[in-house]
Amino acid sequence: MSRFFSSRFASLEAYTPGEQPQDQSYTKLNTNESPYPPSPATVAAVTETELNKLNLYSDPTGRRLREALAELYGLQRENVILANGSDEILSFAFMAFADKETPVAFPAISYGFYPVYADLYGLEATKVPLLPDFSVDVEALAAAKGMIVIANPNAPTGIALSLDKIEYLLKSDRDRIVLVDEAYVDFGAESALPLLQKYDNLLIIRTYSKSRSMAGARLGFAFGSPEIIADLETIRYSTNPYNLDRLALLLGEAAVKDDGYYKRNCEKIAATRAAAEKRLKEMGFTMTPSTTNFLFVKHPAVSGETLYLGLKERGVLVRHFNKPLIQDYLRITVGTPEQMETLFAAIADMLSKTAPKGV
Ligand SMILES: *Cc1c(COP(=O)(O)O)cnc(C)c1O
Repeated sequence: MSRFFSSRFASLEAYTPGEQPQDQSYTKLNTNESPYPPSPATVAAVTETELNKLNLYSDPTGRRLREALAELYGLQRENVILANGSDEILSFAFMAFADKETPVAFPAISYGFYPVYADLYGLEATKVPLLPDFSVDVEALAAAKGMIVIANPNAPTGIALSLDKIEYLLKSDRDRIVLVDEAYVDFGAESALPLLQKYDNLLIIRTYSKSRSMAGARLGFAFGSPEIIADLETIRYSTNPYNLDRLALLLGEAAVKDDGYYKRNCEKIAATRAAAEKRLKEMGFTMTPSTTNFLFVKHPAVSGETLYLGLKERGVLVRHFNKPLIQDYLRITVGTPEQMETLFAAIADMLSKTAPKGV
């Protein structure tokens, strides 16, 4: 820390992203990216003609992409905001809807950025412990004060809440925002979208990073009432009105037009997930019920850290969180069937060397 760094941030613990090795030597199952590339029609949207327009600023209103998303999801353009990854919308929302009087509440085990944004903006945060089965404690969240932030399905547990639970949170105080981060919803959970007409305190956040194969393009979007979206736009225009570059906007539009391709990939991933659950159970793992593109697994004979390191040594990267309650779990992204075979082989090799006989 330099002597110039504001004392406001002296104790800020920044977010730690998963490892992103810049060579292709690992089977990469650690940051929940799609194993499939964007569709050919999506990639084709970035033409040389378009590249030659990079001297010009992008459309700060993102109008065409917002209209395309609104149409796809049965909304109006005024219900949609775009950002440079959903992390940026999360940042805007923590800035816009919480302060000294309005704290935030989120599950104690959830997406690692929530506590970071709470700290960054000096917010009081209630971290609500998960229930023993690792599901979100809806009652305790409802009883907490201020804005509620949840990932549904939750990360890294993969467990989804039903819509009536989301509605219960929305009803618990209609004068607070309930932010539902739906980064993984396309892999099989229920979206809160149908509740949007009825609840003007609902903010739904989505991303192109997982189900739409574009983590590298940094595209996020959110749905809310026109008023909520306008507030977020005020923050966005006060931060960086050109937060989406021309290429990301084009890619985003083309992906909406090719939605079927991404839906089919989500179905493939769900099928690979089901097969992987079966294989991992046969190898002795237990896991939480996942409706996402990852599995949260634990082996009775080997610690999470040993597994993580052993897999890394064998060229397979998975995510390990060195945190109480979950340090014996691994979060494994569902890759292609071939990548999963590589994972199973690495695990089998490890277990044959480290686990006691019979386990
Ligand atoms: C991956 C992820 C995000 C971040 O998505 P980006 O759009 O890549 O910024 C947000 N929330 C959750 C729960 C995630 O897992």
